[in-house]
Amino acid sequence: MGKLAQRLSFVNFGEVCRNCPVNCCKRFYAVLLEEEESEFDGKASIVKTRLGRLKTLGGPRGRTCPFLLENGFCGVYDRRPFDCRLWPVMVYYDFEREEFIIVLDMECPAAAEGRIPKEMLNRMIQTAREAILDGSLKKEWVKKYTLSPWPKNYQILERVKPPS
Ligand code: SF4
Repeated sequence: MGKLAQRLSFVNFGEVCRNCPVNCCKRFYAVLLEEEESEFDGKASIVKTRLGRLKTLGGPRGRTCPFLLENGFCGVYDRRPFDCRLWPVMVYYDFEREEFIIVLDMECPAAAEGRIPKEMLNRMIQTAREAILDGSLKKEWVKKYTLSPWPKNYQILERVKPPS
């Protein structure tokens, strides 16, 4: 498991996801950090952006995550990537203001309905902020992530100036 994913080992949505009509593992895809790509080699899809390609689990146009089990559980839950752990919090890049934004994706019903436990959500945001500020979440990756074809229906939680 990658170092950044490890920082989010406290994240557990448990009951929050029960009977979810969206099921992010089916509807969306997870983008791998560079440090995670080799671990999922052979299972990942490619998503192209104007700044370069990203590797993903699942893909646009309904390509379901290859690790989603028939019973709806995740087959790699204990080593799931950073993007899966952080969702529905995401880090995007504001190209106009040249700064990071930490956002909450309103495509997730639990986010839209305010059902994510506050303490866990705050820790997720704090972890994302720290990863930006210590440089471990790379600007070039976040730029490509921002340009990936994803429903952009989010609420900005925080703006973070990149480290100089
Ligand atoms: S969309 Fe949100 S509530 Fe639904 S399964 Fe994913 S994280 Fe859970």
